[in-house]
Amino acid sequence: MDLSFTPDEIAFRDEVRAFLAAKLPEHLSDKVRNGHRLTKQDMEEWHAILSARGWLAASWPKKWGGAEWTAIQRHIFEEECYAAGAPRIMPFGVNMLGPVLMKYGSEEQKAHYLPRILDGTDWWCQGYSEPGAGSDLASLKTSAVRDDDHYVVNGQKTWTTFAQYADWMFCLVRTSNEGKPQQGISFLLIDMTSPGIDVRPIVTLDGGHEVNEVFFDDVRVPVANRVGQENAGWTYAKYLLTHERTGIAGVGLSTEALAQLKRIAARQKKRGRPLAEDPYFAARVARVEIDLAAMRTTNLRALQAAASGAPPGAESSMLKIKGTVIRQEINDLARRALGLYALPFASEALEAGHNVTLVGPDYANPIASQYFNNRKLSIFGGSNEIQKNIISKIVLGL
Ligand SMILES: Cc1cc2nc3c(=O)[nH]c(=O)nc-3n(C[C@H](O)[C@H](O)[C@H](O)COP(=O)(O)OP(=O)(O)OC[C@H]3O[C@@H](n4cnc5c(N)ncnc54)[C@H](O)[C@@H]3O)c2cc1C
Repeated sequence: MDLSFTPDEIAFRDEVRAFLAAKLPEHLSDKVRNGHRLTKQDMEEWHAILSARGWLAASWPKKWGGAEWTAIQRHIFEEECYAAGAPRIMPFGVNMLGPVLMKYGSEEQKAHYLPRILDGTDWWCQGYSEPGAGSDLASLKTSAVRDDDHYVVNGQKTWTTFAQYADWMFCLVRTSNEGKPQQGISFLLIDMTSPGIDVRPIVTLDGGHEVNEVFFDDVRVPVANRVGQENAGWTYAKYLLTHERTGIAGVGLSTEALAQLKRIAARQKKRGRPLAEDPYFAARVARVEIDLAAMRTTNLRALQAAASGAPPGAESSMLKIKGTVIRQEINDLARRALGLYALPFASEALEAGHNVTLVGPDYANPIASQYFNNRKLSIFGGSNEIQKNIISKIVLGL
């Protein structure tokens, strides 16, 4: 299999590079490179720039305002964006709900919601997980009971990323207790300003506020906001998850994190010499670099196979596991490279323009936070243990 880019793909990469050089605001790439927290406004700014260029919805058909790129083009775009320090695109509307609406939504839902995702009118969040229903998602209990032309929703979601910013939630609810648990689930679009919704922050290990608990107390949702058939939501939910896992290897992110690690190792000293020259440390960096190079090739192989129409197999699970192990190893090495400077952890120093006096060098500032925050990688999007179960079934037939 030839994994080198074609002349057209190289031309595309150059076009993306030129666009990023011209249009990515420096104040955004500075924040990303320095590990500062992005505000909602920051994310919306980048969203609007990409939307204006027609490059926000990489996989959507042109008919709906998408770029209709191939998997390889999407990969090139992602790599270039990470290399340039671009903020990540919020996936909930564009990469998760959009494809579901295009496949299963009514014509009215498509016409109403898709343009609003593109132009940034609506910020979406994902209401799947509940206390007691994460890996075992089908056991979810949040109920939606029919009352004329509305559902009345009661229950709780948890770990809801950026629910504090969201205008809307796509939400899995239980509409029946008959039969298998998967058969009683429906997929609702819920206006987050509806009376009876309470969003409560969960502050994570790194001191950040990304995730939330969301409580529903007699929340009325029009039946017209249901996607597809009642009790068929599990099919749509699974379809969405196949899109959630696209790009899960995070090759571009790890490449940037590795470059940052090498910069740190070149500046930190061990017995008067740069840490990068310490044989033990250099060997660990080399090992993770080799793993990353191998994963990049596996990722390209999977993308090429997808481009020639092969159904997705165990590769996405393998890439998810390997990608997260590599990112966490890089974070761990960066933490070790800094030694004591990785210990003082000032969450406020991650806000741009902070006036915290730092104990160590500037580049030490985000390292502990990145280490703590990225513990999440092996949990969300299907935990690594669950991915191993999938591999054991598909590849080993267990
Ligand atoms: C930062 C973050 C953001 C998130 N954002 C969202 C979001 O926006 N929307 C949303 O709906 N959800 C979100 N989630 C939730 C995420 O999808 C769940 O955390 C994940 O599915 C795991 O579920 P759980 O936390 O209930 O853990 P559990 O399912 O209780 O698992 C606990 C442990 O047991 C292991 N385990 C469970 N079942 C098995 C099994 N069968 N075999 C082997 N091991 C098993 C797991 O791997 C894990 O180590 C987010 C999570 C995090 C951490």
